Amino acid sequence: MKELVNKLQDYKTPFYWYDLQLLEKTLSIIKKESDNYGFNVHYALKANANLPILKIIKEYGFGADCVSGNEVLRSLEAGFSSTEIVFAGVGKSDEEITIGLENDILSFNVESVPELEVINELAHKLNKKAKVAFRLNPNVDASTHHYITTGLEENKFGINMRDMDGVLAILKQLKNIELTGIHFHIGSQITDMKVYEKLCYRVNEIQEWFNTRNIHLAHINVGGGLGINYNAPEKDSIPDFKTYFKVFADYLKLQPKQQLHFELGRSVVGQCGSLITKVLYVKNGTKTKFAIVDAGITELIRPALYQAFHTIENLSSERLEETYDVVGPICESSDFFRKGILLPETKRHDLIAIRSAGAYGEVMASRYNLRNIAKAYYSDSL
Ligand SMILES: *Cc1c(COP(=O)(O)O)cnc(C)c1O
Repeated sequence: MKELVNKLQDYKTPFYWYDLQLLEKTLSIIKKESDNYGFNVHYALKANANLPILKIIKEYGFGADCVSGNEVLRSLEAGFSSTEIVFAGVGKSDEEITIGLENDILSFNVESVPELEVINELAHKLNKKAKVAFRLNPNVDASTHHYITTGLEENKFGINMRDMDGVLAILKQLKNIELTGIHFHIGSQITDMKVYEKLCYRVNEIQEWFNTRNIHLAHINVGGGLGINYNAPEKDSIPDFKTYFKVFADYLKLQPKQQLHFELGRSVVGQCGSLITKVLYVKNGTKTKFAIVDAGITELIRPALYQAFHTIENLSSERLEETYDVVGPICESSDFFRKGILLPETKRHDLIAIRSAGAYGEVMASRYNLRNIAKAYYSDSL
């Protein structure tokens, strides 16, 4: 990123910087590798919902994966087709469900029986038939940070298979529901492909279960979760989508005409974004030097929320390296980006890039301490 320092100098810090060329390269690889097998990809808006980014993603023909009514509306605004929108979430409000129904979305990914009953009731009022997929708990451990593991039975997400006979009995009574598929999402930042292999085996077993009950499912949706390399944003800027899709092609047994859907978030946008911040002060501590920067948990909460690692670069300095704690200005001890890292000698007004901030960065911004929301700037696209 060093080559950009003169350009980046012009903007008021902190700000988000998006490399749209990298985004497009990533999208064209996803398109090629998923088309290879006829797989359907939905982009998970919750990773980054900026309109310029959504408009580019839409151009590649992907659908949208939403977890709120406002995300459904935003994806429509960006031009995604309503028939390619899937809508998940354990706590959909009546208002949000109505947005989905009025727009005839592809699927509500339903996470509980009470939710199913409410969707049925609201669909009845609108004289519609809601298409739903059950979000199931495959009980597969994603081997990732425990805050972003979602496919275990003890998680709040999804329905457990042992309750499924009861769910089907209730489903029979619900005239305004059409079951079209099953859905899984086992966690995020998954880098071990064995985890996806296990998910495939489990999905095959679950499919068998439905088959023996004569239920045909038009869609299987295996969610998202593919990880990115936070250690090497430059060298490893595009995740290995080839291997990822191949795992599903090799291990998941699809039935004739059955469609396989994916919901990718982080792996699409994670590496194309950086948080750019300026050093306000360098302060000597008892053990270390603090580089106090003008961005904090209000712009990027991932390190505080999940002990996440981000590569940090000083774009302004070529001086000899020293050890620093890179910390923000917010009145919380958890407001730091990294501790004890080597950076070229750092001075007031140096420009710092916190890399791999394209996913779950800007979308989680807050106004804590009454700070202003940081702006986003974009490189030219391809
Ligand atoms: C968050 C989420 C995704 C996207 O996850 P990534 O790890 O960003 O790929 C997909 N599906 C659902 C249901 C989600 O909640």
